[in-house]
Amino acid sequence: MPQTNKIKKVLFLDRDGVINVEADGYVTDWKEFEFLPDALDTIRRATDEGYRIIVVSNQSAINRGLCSRETIDEIMSNMVEKVEAHGGKIKDIFYCPHTPDDKCKCRKPEPDLFFQAAEKYNIKLTNTWFVGDKLTDVAVAMRVGTKPILIRGGKPVPGITVTEEDAVKVVNNLSEAFDFLFAMDKLRLVTDA
Ligand SMILES: [Mg+2]
Ligand SMILES: [Zn+2]
Repeated sequence: MPQTNKIKKVLFLDRDGVINVEADGYVTDWKEFEFLPDALDTIRRATDEGYRIIVVSNQSAINRGLCSRETIDEIMSNMVEKVEAHGGKIKDIFYCPHTPDDKCKCRKPEPDLFFQAAEKYNIKLTNTWFVGDKLTDVAVAMRVGTKPILIRGGKPVPGITVTEEDAVKVVNNLSEAFDFLFAMDKLRLVTDA
């Protein structure tokens, strides 16, 4: 059999507004977690194409005292289970439990979640993609060097100076984001050869 040319590709995903419906408040119970219509299929496609999927998420509900870390972990592991039942895989999840007042280094647009992932898996961030739904996601991507794709419709974030123009691409959902990045990576592999 010919050697497949698949390299290990890394796709970072924000969670709320990308994988699941962004709740009005916070998702503090699995019952409130609702997958977006295209999410499970797209994660399976990306998995099939050899992407390692890593979720990076702000979960300030924890330090706001709205729910426990155990509850967030339970929601995350239920999500991972559903993804796997659908044929996809989420390699790992990095989340920030802090509020803006905690002034931590991991709440996006601070970069540390990406640095933690990069260190743990020896990832060169400039070779990766990050799909998010807020301009904070674009801002952090620009800081750490991953390529930002913005899903339209995220709530505005005060104090963020980047605009939609700073995203590599603006799309309507995860499926469109994957179509784009997959095409771009194919092009890159061809031109790099
Ligand atoms: Mg989001
Ligand atoms: Zn943090």
